[in-house]
Order: sequence, then C-alpha cells, then structure tokens
Amino acid sequence: MHTRPNILFIMSDDHAAHAISAYGSKINNTPNIDRLANEGIRLDSTFCTNALCTPSRATILTGQYSHINGVKTLDDEIDSSRPIQSQKLLQASGYKTAIIGKWHLGNNEESNPQGFDYWNVLPGQGDYFDPKFYEMGEEKQYPGYVTDIITEKATDWLDSTDRDDPFCLMVHHKAPHSPWIAAPRHMNLGVEGEFPEPETLMDDYETRSEAVKMTSIRVEDTSARNLKLDPPEGMSKDDKRRWAYQRYITDYTRTIQAIDDSVGTLLAYLDENGLAENTLVIYTSDQGMFLGDHGWHDKRFMYEQSLQMPFLARLPGEIDAGSVSDAMLLNIDFAPTFYDYAGIDCPDEVQGTSGRQILAGTTPDGWRTSMYYRYWMSMLGHRVVPNYGVRNERYKLIHYYGVLPEDTGLHDLKIPAEWELYDLQIDPQEIKNVYGNPTYSAVQSEMLQELDRLQSAASDASRH
Ligand code: CA
Repeated sequence: MHTRPNILFIMSDDHAAHAISAYGSKINNTPNIDRLANEGIRLDSTFCTNALCTPSRATILTGQYSHINGVKTLDDEIDSSRPIQSQKLLQASGYKTAIIGKWHLGNNEESNPQGFDYWNVLPGQGDYFDPKFYEMGEEKQYPGYVTDIITEKATDWLDSTDRDDPFCLMVHHKAPHSPWIAAPRHMNLGVEGEFPEPETLMDDYETRSEAVKMTSIRVEDTSARNLKLDPPEGMSKDDKRRWAYQRYITDYTRTIQAIDDSVGTLLAYLDENGLAENTLVIYTSDQGMFLGDHGWHDKRFMYEQSLQMPFLARLPGEIDAGSVSDAMLLNIDFAPTFYDYAGIDCPDEVQGTSGRQILAGTTPDGWRTSMYYRYWMSMLGHRVVPNYGVRNERYKLIHYYGVLPEDTGLHDLKIPAEWELYDLQIDPQEIKNVYGNPTYSAVQSEMLQELDRLQSAASDASRH
C-alpha cells in the first residue's frame, strides 16, 4: 500500500463560488459540493491569474503565468512536449494519471494530452448531449448527458486501476459553461423570475473606465443561442436586463446540479472503495463568472466574481473538517501543491508555491498578501480589452493599457489607457473607482509600486 495520497481533482468550467451554497449562494443549493467544505477546507481567496478557460487550464497544469507557459488567449494551444506539467511529474514519480472531460488546450499532435496513462477528452468546448470524445486520440461518441458521461468514465477508470500505486485523476467538466444546457432531470429546477438579483445588476458604470462601458458581456447582450428565447416585445432596457438575468441564471443553476450529482457520485465511490481516507479531493473551477454582477455574464475582467475560483479540499487526517482560510492561493500554486503531496521536488521554472500548509490550517510565514493578474485576449472576445492589475488584501488596481495585440488587426483602434482603483473594504462591489482621488494618493502610489514589483517577479517584461 502506498503512503502518498491519491489526488482527485474535480474542475468545472465557469462555476462561480457564489453559485455554491458552501460559499453562501443565494441562487442554488449544492449539497454534495458542500460536503467537501464540511469535511475539509473552504478557501475564500483563491484567484486565477487570467480569467479565461484555456489560459487558466494551462496555468493549472504548469504552475506558470500565461506569458511563461505560452497560453495567453483562447486561440493559443498548449505545447504538450513541455516537460513541466503536473501530470508528467506525477506520472514519473509513480502516480497513475488520467484526465477525463474537458481539455480545451488544443486538439492536434502537439497539443493532445501527454503524461496521462489514460485520457478521454472532449474536442474543444464539447457538446452537452451525445458528445464526441477523443479516447487516447481515438474519436468516440457516447449517448447521454456530458456531465454524467464524464462521471461514469471517471469511475470506470478508477475501477480499472490497481491500488498499488497512488492515482491522480482529473475530472474536468464542461458544465456549467454556456450555452448552459441542463440534464433533463433538472429542467424544472428553480423558478425563473424568482431568482434574487445581485446588488449590481443595474450597474450604470459611473466612475468606471471606458473599457467597462464598452464591453458586450452585459446579460442583455447574451446571444439568443445561450438565452434560447427572444425577449418579449416592447421591453424597456432595464426590464430586458432583468429578463435576461433570470433566463441566464435559471439555465446556469440547473446546469450546475448535475455537477453536484457528479461530486456526490465520486465521493460515494471513494467511500465505498475504502479510498476516502487517503485521497485528496479538490473541487474548483477554471475561473469565476459574473452572475448578473455589474449586469454581466462571462468573466475576463479582474473584478472579484470573475477573479475568484471556488476551492474546496478534503484530506482526512491532514485537513481539518469545516475549516476556512483567507490565505491567497493562486492557480499557479495548484501544481506545486500536488508536488508537495507527492514528495516531488518543485522545478525552478514553476512560479507558484505549494499551498499544502494552508490546506492543513497554517499560513506559512511570508506568504503572499498580493497577487498579479493579466488578461491578454483582445477585445475581439466579448469586447473586453486586455488589462492587468494587482490585488492585495484590501485594494485592487487595474490597468486597461489601451493597446491591442498586433495579430488582432485591431491595434490601430483608439482604446484609451485607463486605471481603476478599488477599496474592497469600503466598496466590496467595486462600483466606486477611486483612482486619482486625493484621499487615496498614498495607496495609489503603493499599489503602482506593488504592480511593478509583481510584474518583475512574474518576469512579465512587456507592459502592453
Ligand atoms: Ca471557463
């Protein structure tokens, strides 16, 4: 029997923390995901370093920022030959490794998964019903609902592994990514029209940047494909936003419920097979999501709802049941955390740090109190311009640097360079930009310096 813990890493796509009841959701109930909070730890300050699907996935595997691992936007593919990837190091150290579900890092010889004893992944975004998969490179199509299929393939793989070696199984759900299509058994969940509205649903963007005002991620801009219905005729602008919010959240919360079922199935599997005691179980999402916050859907911006990743972890005997931590854990820290549990020396190229002690209830001396963020994709994606910033425990500084990448063909567009500064203690909803406000001049210069320091520390030399 091995002594190193198994790792069951469950990651969904676009599942915001505030749509998990353990995080205080007002819109849904997730009893199985909540089990991990009750039996383990809930982290309240887990942040992504680039709030977008493909880049966050590459960062999670490599422990590196986007500009180092080369996957900055949705259009980039991972170079799978790169040696520093968590599954490769785990495999080399004796772990059995598998990934089932969403890969979304490319689908060709160069970007197909490597370092997995077994892989069975969706092409690109994949489909909700009767999805195609690539099982070890071979195209397959399975009847049914994608979340359930991923869960079934995960337990099938666990059945097929012997127990002599530890395993690392990555279960990467497609849900609840748009177009938010629920399993048939959840189609009547929740009452459309009665979901509580977030405080900032009707945000007027006063004091905010042009970058915020120009974006097309407002809920009323959501595509008809995603909303599945046209708005009733003659609606006012405000009513249309409210209608679109209800339409979105109804489908989004319904889609989450099969994920919750999946977590329940996987935890029951561990219980029934004597694996619960020696398996680190993590639940997270590739980034957060605006759930009508600021009137938006989607992510990309550095505001809290998009920046925060849910992160719940259970490992009996090491992680205290029902514990909570505010320590800042970033997605660059996930791979080094795995290495720590597996007794693997963390390579120098990794930019993150193991969070194992945090999960065990102790924040190490000198642990970070600020973090660097950068979103690289051009405004082609939902008209969200590139931006970077720094967040510490109280303040957040964001810079929309006003230059679009040359390869977009849009780099001649006049996009203003703008700054925003938020005092999260006084203004947790981030609706009052205080950049340039004399009251905050000392804070502002400290945050500008901190941005410089973190940008250098992350070896991000290009300021635009
Ligand atoms: Ca995502």
